[in-house]
Amino acid sequence: MGSRDYDFTESEKVAIKAAYNWICAACGHDNARDLTADHWLPANKAFGVCLCHYCNTSIKGKKLVPITHMLPPRKPIDATRENYNERRDANQDAFRGWIADNFKGFVKGVKYQTAHIPQFVAPW
Ligand SMILES: [Zn+2]
Repeated sequence: MGSRDYDFTESEKVAIKAAYNWICAACGHDNARDLTADHWLPANKAFGVCLCHYCNTSIKGKKLVPITHMLPPRKPIDATRENYNERRDANQDAFRGWIADNFKGFVKGVKYQTAHIPQFVAPW
């Protein structure tokens, strides 16, 4: 397995997750085993965001979200363990809606106009 020059190293992955306090920036999930270091821009290692596996692969995927809308670290889910999954799922639904409403799939070689995109306001 060769690594690509934009792949994060293991220590970079740890640093990204630590910068986000080991919490998914989208849904608040805090199980360290489920967390990933997302390339916020495809094939670009300059901007890493801690997302859980589900938010990274099933929701954000290859959508192009400009760095002006890069998710900042967030607080953990304020919930008891009994309603933790419910809160996490609601946050994932909100993240899915925000992505779907504002961003399209990344197409290599296309120059994107992002000025029309409203400033990110967390929907939760
Ligand atoms: Zn998540």
